[in-house]
Amino acid sequence: MLMAMLYGAKDLRLERGDDPVVGPGQVKIRFGAGGICGSDLSYYGKGRIGDFSLMQPLCLGHEVSGEVDEVGAGVTRVKKGDRVAINPNQPCRVCRTCKVGKGHICLAMNFYGSAALFPHIQGIFREVIVATEAQCFVVPQSCDFRIAAMAEPLAVALHAVRRAGSLVGKSVLVTGVGPIGSLLVLAAKRAGAAHIAVTDVADAALKRAEALGIDEAVNAVASPEKVEAWYANKGTFDVTFECSGNAAAIASAIQATASGGCVVQVGMLGVPTADIAVNRMVSREVDWLGAFRFDGEYGAAVHELASGAIDVSSLLTHSYKMSAANDAFLMAADRSQSMKVHLTF
Ligand SMILES: [Zn+2]
Ligand SMILES: [Zn+2]
Repeated sequence: MLMAMLYGAKDLRLERGDDPVVGPGQVKIRFGAGGICGSDLSYYGKGRIGDFSLMQPLCLGHEVSGEVDEVGAGVTRVKKGDRVAINPNQPCRVCRTCKVGKGHICLAMNFYGSAALFPHIQGIFREVIVATEAQCFVVPQSCDFRIAAMAEPLAVALHAVRRAGSLVGKSVLVTGVGPIGSLLVLAAKRAGAAHIAVTDVADAALKRAEALGIDEAVNAVASPEKVEAWYANKGTFDVTFECSGNAAAIASAIQATASGGCVVQVGMLGVPTADIAVNRMVSREVDWLGAFRFDGEYGAAVHELASGAIDVSSLLTHSYKMSAANDAFLMAADRSQSMKVHLTF
């Protein structure tokens, strides 16, 4: 079996490993398609993401779908030949946060392709994957593997929406319209947002966001006066989804959010700290909420995609063979050309 292993920044190697053996309660899956996530890109480009650094070779990948090849003893919900989306979350279900129903922030989370723990949790950009039955979500045979693989990033967006609460009739700002920000646009529309504005620093990303049917697209670097106009009258938006992870965008997001509104922080900051206008946040009671991964939203995301209720097809811009994974990562990093880049074998 081939797998994509990262040895350090920009050092991705296609390696051969042993085929995994399927045990009781487990499912063996042939890789269908895998999306390159911002976290994969960060590991690839810098050898780390946020506070997590590469300490040993890491197989990347956690946005994956495939076809069931074999099922272990006791597996009843999936069968050979099924197409499945694979939930990369494996919370322990017994720690303090799991016990209060927040499995996504499990204290001992096994999340594919992550250097958060040591030894690292290996990812699933590999020809053959063994997952638990609970991780497998069956999609129709007609569902493109790349669409099914979008369940993971869509689940991130749905979780961020859940953190914000009801969006019905609300005005929403999305800062940073890469794949996650774009999925947030789609999720916010679906959740009943009345007005959606987006910011980015890349015109290509703004153009793609406009095609998703938003109300305003602003280049925050080229037109800072448009962003500053949102600060007037104690802020403009009921809810802001900060997806850029850019320190200046976070400071701006808090000021653009209306009194009593909330900022959901989805983007992971590229530097350790950000300067924010704390007093304005306090005096206007703007809530600043972290949103990390997802839990039950994965199943909801699969349903939204499989039913066609959320159409992500315009976000799928490129597909590469795993043997050209380096090219795929370079393309995924080029925001002037790509949105979501997928790998196949
Ligand atoms: Zn992801
Ligand atoms: Zn746990």
